[in-house]
Amino acid sequence: MSQDYYELLGVSRSASASELKKAYRKLAVKYHPDKNPGDEVAEAKFKEISEAYEVLSDEGKRRQYDQYGHEAYTQRGEGGGGGMHGDPFDIFSQVFGGGGGGGASSIFESFFGGGGGGGPQPGADLRKDLELTFEEAVFGCKKEISLTKNEACERCDASGAEPGSKMTTCPTCRGNGQVHIKQGFFSINQECPHCHGSGKKIEKPCNTCRGNATVRKEKKVKIDVPAGVDTGSKMRIRGEGDAGEAGAPAGNLYVVFHVRNHDIFERDGDHIYCKIPVSFPTAVLGGSIEVPTLNGKESLKIPAGTQSGTKFRIKGKGVKNLRSHDTGHQIVTIIVEVPTNLNSEQKEALETFADLCGDNVQPMKESFFEKASRFFGG
Ligand SMILES: [Zn+2]
Ligand SMILES: [Zn+2]
Repeated sequence: MSQDYYELLGVSRSASASELKKAYRKLAVKYHPDKNPGDEVAEAKFKEISEAYEVLSDEGKRRQYDQYGHEAYTQRGEGGGGGMHGDPFDIFSQVFGGGGGGGASSIFESFFGGGGGGGPQPGADLRKDLELTFEEAVFGCKKEISLTKNEACERCDASGAEPGSKMTTCPTCRGNGQVHIKQGFFSINQECPHCHGSGKKIEKPCNTCRGNATVRKEKKVKIDVPAGVDTGSKMRIRGEGDAGEAGAPAGNLYVVFHVRNHDIFERDGDHIYCKIPVSFPTAVLGGSIEVPTLNGKESLKIPAGTQSGTKFRIKGKGVKNLRSHDTGHQIVTIIVEVPTNLNSEQKEALETFADLCGDNVQPMKESFFEKASRFFGG
């Protein structure tokens, strides 16, 4: 039964990958079981050419085949069953660019523009952008969005026919919804261009939708925004896209969130950041400061000698993670504010303070100047 793979495909031993593919395509179309129902000879031929193509289209296998010859190569296969390791239909769909799913025959149809079985088309997916405040995104909220989309026509109950008018069988496809079109030596099925696959002819189109079965309508959709969404988060709302044709399922609605900036908080993932100005005396002496959090005011103790830029973490005051439901933290950065606009009395007090201070109260300055003088070789 075995025949040389190159001869089977009708190509030379030096054929390029694209020549192989072309030759295989041509033969696969000719011998495909869908084209030759019940023809066992054609089916065997289809398997043979698929096997030949599987081997020759794989560089490594082709090299082995060229080196060891047909007999040797096929004996290396399992149980003398030949060198075929894959399913001929898988190979067919790889060549014809099917992305998996539908099996060989639907790939066959889609490759030849056969309309994938025809019938009413499902509705399109829609996208809607939605702006949220910082708090709405953190805590979640209920929103109503309005969008214009295709909705099933109520007047004709999505049939496209004026109520009371007749529906007859489509004369073009005789109710099949599909028509045969001859292309070269083979014929293919295509969705009927007159009834768009429904198989029915509308005598009098619906006044409202003009026979489309759907109408453009503004619709309000209520959505529950979960806590923790962020800019770029997407939410799918099933069935809120465009209505499908004649009873086909509707598409989905995708809501994409955009979160507005906050006056005092910044967010990075699940953590909230803010900067708190602290008076010079409080930073020096330590004390309790008031910190705004998303849940209200919190008091935070800062130790004596807190420097500007010091960060404190308030546990669990961040954002609840959408997936894990763990809550992030709030990170507070202390900004020590240098007093300005002092009156003469205040200035005097500060001068007295300065006179009382030696370098010992400024450890950072002391160590900095030590390093600087070592740097200058002093
Ligand atoms: Zn038709
Ligand atoms: Zn209508």
